[in-house]
Amino acid sequence: MIHTETVLEARDIHFSYGENTVLKGVTLAVQKGDYLGIVGPNGAGKTTLLKIMLGLMAPSQGTIAWFGNDIHQFKDWPKIGYVPQKATNFDGHFPATVYEVALMGRYGRRGLFHLTTSDDKNQAQKALEHVGMWELKDRLISDLSGGQQQRVFIARALAIEPEIIFLDEPTVGIDQQAKNDFYALLRKLNHELGKTLVLISHDIEMVTREVDHIACVDRELVCYSTPEEFLKNTRFTGVHEGEVQVIVHGHQH
Ligand code: ADP
Repeated sequence: MIHTETVLEARDIHFSYGENTVLKGVTLAVQKGDYLGIVGPNGAGKTTLLKIMLGLMAPSQGTIAWFGNDIHQFKDWPKIGYVPQKATNFDGHFPATVYEVALMGRYGRRGLFHLTTSDDKNQAQKALEHVGMWELKDRLISDLSGGQQQRVFIARALAIEPEIIFLDEPTVGIDQQAKNDFYALLRKLNHELGKTLVLISHDIEMVTREVDHIACVDRELVCYSTPEEFLKNTRFTGVHEGEVQVIVHGHQH
């Protein structure tokens, strides 16, 4: 018998920024070991949904449960890793080395002001080895390419030893080869390390190739399916720089 464990359950999530209703009754579950892609047009509410799932914002209606516990009771946040959008969250001149950035992942576990333990160092090293960046550990993060920086951010998330990792548009601004390498790394984290992954992206071409399930969010949950079903039932209009701009759902006329 296949035993599944629900890692995350979002039920009937509603959210508005003032008059602007961004989420209307989104219900979504993530199972252990799953690799879920959340796709949808810009402004569809994907990042808002992610922030609500992570407890950074409260929904106006609906509930979130983590590992079977309501988010208000949930305490085990180190089980959850988060790789935010690079462009909006990272200062390119940040004067830290690759190793220091990976170590920062450990601070989240026990608060910022603590001494680095040998366990912290081991986990930071292991995380950098997993993403193939240990050799560059003494380089300044600002001297790396966008693709390399993203690998270091993955290492920072991995260093807390999470069970699930959220990634928000992780390949924006990196070239195609680096993107391919990046998706190969995510595949390894999912298949070999058993990490549950939730990837927000509007790069539908890549996502349909990589993930186990796709959730389309456009204020509502428009679809939830395997990539195969998704491709069968979805029509695209307008492709710009390899990224599908608009998703049109439903039957062909
Ligand atoms: P996506 O991640 O799918 O691009 P977002 O969740 O970022 O969508 O945004 C959904 C909608 O909410 C957009 O219309 C956006 O302009 C609006 N929005 C996002 N953040 C804020 C905010 N802090 N204040 C007001 N409106 C916001």
